[in-house]
Amino acid sequence: MRTREQYIEGLKKLKKNLYFRGEKIGRDHEDLEQSVNVIAQTFDAAHDPETKDLFTATSHLTGETINRFCHVHQSTEDLHNKQDMTRALCRKAGYCVGRCMGTDALNAINAISYEADKANKGETAYHENFLKWLENFQKNDLVGSCAQTDTKGLRMMRPSEQPDPDSYLHVVERKSDGIIVRGCKVHISFAAVADEILVLPTRAMTPDDSDYAVAFAVPADHEGVKHVVTPHNMRKREHIPRGVDFGAVDSYVIFDDVFVPWERVFLCGEHLHGSLCAGLFALFHRHSYSGCKPAIGDIILGMVSLAAEINGIDKAPHIREKMSEIIQIAELGYAAGFTASEMGKPELNIPGLGTVPFGPGAYIPNAIYANVGRCHTGESVYHEQEILCDVAGGIPATFPFEGDLVNEDLKPLLEKYIKRNPNIPIEDQIKFWMLFVDLNVSSLGGALNYAGMHGGGSPIMEQIAITSQYDIKAREDMVRALAGMSEKDKKKDKK
Ligand SMILES: Cc1cc2nc3c(=O)[nH]c(=O)nc-3n(C[C@H](O)[C@H](O)[C@H](O)COP(=O)(O)OP(=O)(O)OC[C@H]3O[C@@H](n4cnc5c(N)ncnc54)[C@H](O)[C@@H]3O)c2cc1C
Repeated sequence: MRTREQYIEGLKKLKKNLYFRGEKIGRDHEDLEQSVNVIAQTFDAAHDPETKDLFTATSHLTGETINRFCHVHQSTEDLHNKQDMTRALCRKAGYCVGRCMGTDALNAINAISYEADKANKGETAYHENFLKWLENFQKNDLVGSCAQTDTKGLRMMRPSEQPDPDSYLHVVERKSDGIIVRGCKVHISFAAVADEILVLPTRAMTPDDSDYAVAFAVPADHEGVKHVVTPHNMRKREHIPRGVDFGAVDSYVIFDDVFVPWERVFLCGEHLHGSLCAGLFALFHRHSYSGCKPAIGDIILGMVSLAAEINGIDKAPHIREKMSEIIQIAELGYAAGFTASEMGKPELNIPGLGTVPFGPGAYIPNAIYANVGRCHTGESVYHEQEILCDVAGGIPATFPFEGDLVNEDLKPLLEKYIKRNPNIPIEDQIKFWMLFVDLNVSSLGGALNYAGMHGGGSPIMEQIAITSQYDIKAREDMVRALAGMSEKDKKKDKK
């Protein structure tokens, strides 16, 4: 397993293919430092004697100890550990830990490549390709990002119906040694500071969309790949130290006629498996949210409680009500994820087939609970912000910058006028509001809230997943029985 230093050294060796403010930049650019810091803590945690048991796993390929972020879940315990590791790390980062997208993508591709080969009766070697790639990925403890979301053009149209055929990434040429792909994946978190990009489809497809049913992995600096990056960081500090120094970075990842050798191709042309791959990544990723969103709930709760104390309103009855709401959102999200882990199996619900064994035996979280939890917490993002805003009052929106807070003339005046609760040291009150600004009234906070709502799919996608897999008919029958209604005419139903 690598250390944070080895990870950072590895990034420095990547070719320059990041663009920021119109210029090509290296991975050592100062605006990426805070995002590098986020990922680096995933290496620290795997070496820390206190956390290593949770952050490491035994590779099912080699039997070696690996970072859990590189692992394919082999049991319900692995699913629990994934969820708990995510919550533990997000609590320390204050928000996103950036490395789960790659984990979720590799778990999805593991099952899909296996099933596609099976359906192709051995004519393809997607799974073998994937396992070779995975062994190297695990051995070198690489960081993966997942490029799923396409630009999508007109939302109601399928990939092959779009006015611009490149609205979804697709295969433009099949060659003896590989494929050429074109398109752009958008909002790709932490791709700029990852080693590998895993690409997979974003939606259900028809036979006409076959060229869009493609999954593969390329190094982040692969020939023809361009990242247009948008970093969002905590405000730089020089004088008033903060407990963390983290940020986030997302990319438009442009594939400008990129050659991908066959050994890195894990799906190419199977529209049914492309559809399943899109759904399966979303399922794994929504399960990850049952770790991170509760952690964000923990941070929000802490901020509400401290803001109330600083404002001297902690005994007011409405504060208790608001804190209880935040606890309910976080813990119901966690409980749903816990149940999804506990009920995990090497099975998948496929429309028309029901729940069937799926993949080579690796564990998949229960879809109903993973989606219920994700939908509940995702839809609550702005409600939680509303609570924070209400309890804080207007102070975070106009809080002075660090330079003014340490300016000799202003310091005593600002400390006098910022102070609210005389029982809390003014230095702590200032540090609290500065963190509050970083997380909520900033470009970082704005972008993270969008991720909290849309990451893993907008709420409508979870609602579709829930209602299409839940046995609503069984509930109808319960009511029919309770009401003494006649049984539904099944023959009519089939017509
Ligand atoms: C900060 C951030 C980080 C992200 N990180 C990643 C990442 O690492 N990897 C990745 O692959 N993706 C990532 N995403 C993308 C995320 O998964 C998408 O934003 C999400 O799936 C929604 O897609 P969209 O943004 O295209 O919104 P849209 O799908 O355009 O949604 C906009 C609205 O249109 C509606 N809509 C969309 N399609 C239809 C339709 N067919 N019929 C009716 N209504 C429709 C939606 O319900 C919604 O109300 C990230 C997003 C954000 C904001």
